[in-house]
Amino acid sequence: MIRAGLGYDIHRLKRKRRFLLAGVEIPSRRGELGHSDGDVLAHAVCDAILGACALADIGELFPPSDTSWKDADSMQLLDMAFSIVKKAGWKVVNIDCVIICETPKVLPYRDVIRNSLAKALEVPVENVFLKGKTAEGLGPVGRGKAVEVLAQCLLERP
Ligand code: MG
Repeated sequence: MIRAGLGYDIHRLKRKRRFLLAGVEIPSRRGELGHSDGDVLAHAVCDAILGACALADIGELFPPSDTSWKDADSMQLLDMAFSIVKKAGWKVVNIDCVIICETPKVLPYRDVIRNSLAKALEVPVENVFLKGKTAEGLGPVGRGKAVEVLAQCLLERP
């Protein structure tokens, strides 16, 4: 059986915060604000894999009202979500993501980020891709106030 999943997330960008994508820190004047470390890509990928097997969503698993997730390492959250997915018999086929922000530029870090996601999801790096886009100056993302991510995945259960 094969299932597709879609994940989306948006975080505000603030000074004195780290800009993290799948656990990779990118030098930036502003970083993601969040109850956890704010890693917008890790969150979108969590929702993509959980959604594909119709199990839960990230807000249910790790509610912001729960203080145990304060400043949490989002790659650990992804690890926990992936464990649930694996326990249900699923494996990841591939992941494709779009990161939308005005700055910083994502391209120089693309392969490091791909490797980080590939390792976390136990797939060859060839099966993970991501693109950086800008919002052409439009809306809060275009004004540099936020970063948005779309993540799509394919899962299979042999
Ligand atoms: Mg989030």
